[in-house]
Amino acid sequence: MIPDNDLIDFSAKKRLQNIEKLKNEEFDLLIMGGGITGAGVSCCTTHAGLKTALVEMNDFASGTSSKSSKLLHGGVRYLQQFKFRLVFEALRDRNYLFKHLPHLASPLSFLLPVYKGSKEPLLLLNAGLSLYDGMSLISKNAVTRFHKIIFGKKVQNYEKNLNLRNLTGAIKYFDGICDDARLTLENIKTADFLGATIANYVKIIGFDRNEDLEVNFAIAKDLLSGETFKIKAKKFLNASGPWVDAINKTENASYGNKLKPTKGTHIILPKLTDGNALFLKTPEKPQRWFFIIPFGENSIVGTTDTKAEVKDENDFSYLEEDNYAKESEIDYLLNAVNFYFPDSNFTSKDIISSFAGWRPLVAPEGEDTSESDISREHEIFETESGIICIAGGKLTTYISMSKEITEYIFDLLDIDYVKIEYPRILSWNTDIDKNTFLKLEKSISEYKDDDVIEYLINRYGTEYYKILEIMNISPEMAQKIENLSEDAKIYRAEIIYSVFYEMSITLKDIMNRRFRLILKDKNQGINAIDEITEIMSYTLADLLNWSEDYRENWASVQKEEYILELEKVNAYSLIKDVLA
Ligand code: FAD
Repeated sequence: MIPDNDLIDFSAKKRLQNIEKLKNEEFDLLIMGGGITGAGVSCCTTHAGLKTALVEMNDFASGTSSKSSKLLHGGVRYLQQFKFRLVFEALRDRNYLFKHLPHLASPLSFLLPVYKGSKEPLLLLNAGLSLYDGMSLISKNAVTRFHKIIFGKKVQNYEKNLNLRNLTGAIKYFDGICDDARLTLENIKTADFLGATIANYVKIIGFDRNEDLEVNFAIAKDLLSGETFKIKAKKFLNASGPWVDAINKTENASYGNKLKPTKGTHIILPKLTDGNALFLKTPEKPQRWFFIIPFGENSIVGTTDTKAEVKDENDFSYLEEDNYAKESEIDYLLNAVNFYFPDSNFTSKDIISSFAGWRPLVAPEGEDTSESDISREHEIFETESGIICIAGGKLTTYISMSKEITEYIFDLLDIDYVKIEYPRILSWNTDIDKNTFLKLEKSISEYKDDDVIEYLINRYGTEYYKILEIMNISPEMAQKIENLSEDAKIYRAEIIYSVFYEMSITLKDIMNRRFRLILKDKNQGINAIDEITEIMSYTLADLLNWSEDYRENWASVQKEEYILELEKVNAYSLIKDVLA
């Protein structure tokens, strides 16, 4: 069933080989954290010629980078705060992603309704959006889609169920959307392709220093085998998002925290809008901006923005434990939705799923800034013993951040830096636009089903043929996984691909991040876990020479852990009947 060994590119087997390399070789740079920041930097530094390693304590994108609102946006609201640099950088990066990752990043229509008494009247917003469009237009890869103003009840032509009471009009404009976890993974896969040494489920637990008191080794733990080992590098980049302070504390217990993470919760509800994303203010005071975002057959609603309630600044357990939607957060979001969609009357029973993450924000020292006002801009700083840290920023701006930190590291290493373009992402390895590529591939492919080709290209870009190769091994591989909603459909071959080429190690990697079944399927994939676990476990067993007993035990533990996860995302009430 398994293709030739040389096709097994980025798998659990490669992970073991990479761990051996991490133990035995010296690197120019060790990146700690496999979220979008670490993933982006690893692409850039490897492309620029640095011998780069990256370790992630969990799965790639398992931190904040799978819990974002998934928007590629300049951030209209940052214009209000005069953060022009942040907005320009984000618009430039957004436009770059539209052009260079057309299978992942797509423009999305937004509607910004304005109600009587709003602090931001329609004409002021119109002026703001003119500036926004203008900034996008002067950036490279400019997107020529302009906003428009809609007066009064005409808004109903765009969103028929929206609350019209006191509505003065709306602004319709464009930004973008992207699967955050897949964006991260595609950057990780590209860094691997370029030569970086990468492993997930490897946690940094401490450091050694040389006689000059500079860090020269990181102490790592393979969380799957339990083995501890050291990684030697010239420079260490802490790209662990909200965990930046936690890692720095393992090196120096008296290090003072720099971050003030805030929590953002989203809920997923049955489809609310007619295809637009809505940008709205909560009815509850103090009013905050929130989004309702189309998500296939459903809508994502979020987010909240709350500070961590931490009594002990050495305790970072909240980052993993308080990582789910709380009842009060759910009520807050439902209340906002029911205000703008008065006929919906949603209750917590209607929630399909939820997710929550921590913003890795660097707060200004000493000031008591409100959560929403803490800067979203990134910061680079170093600890006394030379650990380079990067925190803050946005999913959208990871390319600018990656280029900046690469230049910074070259400077520290005293190597002349020749400005580079961000490397081409492995899964869009062509200059052709998506529609032309789709037409071309459909016309030349021997595979008869055009819909399958379109589906695979939309998900895997120019790498789609690798899944077709697996489908061609046997008709069984070309079958869909059973018992999933249409929105969440996947093929058996994709599971195998994700084990061979995407370092999928656990069932949660598949359900939560590779395919987002926990968010997309109306039963959170619960009816498909037997089939998925079977395919995954046999593939891993072949790769890693597991015994049948070991495989069976692995499969049952994985299923139990996934069901526990469902309890936490608040979907358990919905699946109880299925389990019974
Ligand atoms: P993370 O994604 O958290 O990655 C850090 C990684 O480090 C984690 O995977 C973690 O497991 C790993 N790690 C931690 N400790 C260790 C260790 N000891 N050893 C090894 N690895 C370790 N931005 C946008 O542009 N658009 C949006 O719509 C948007 N919406 C957002 C909504 C919310 C609710 C939140 C919270 C953020 C949002 N953002 C958005 C911001 C964006 O998601 C983040 O800026 C970005 O994902 C941060 O990525 P990161 O790689 O820095 O951190």
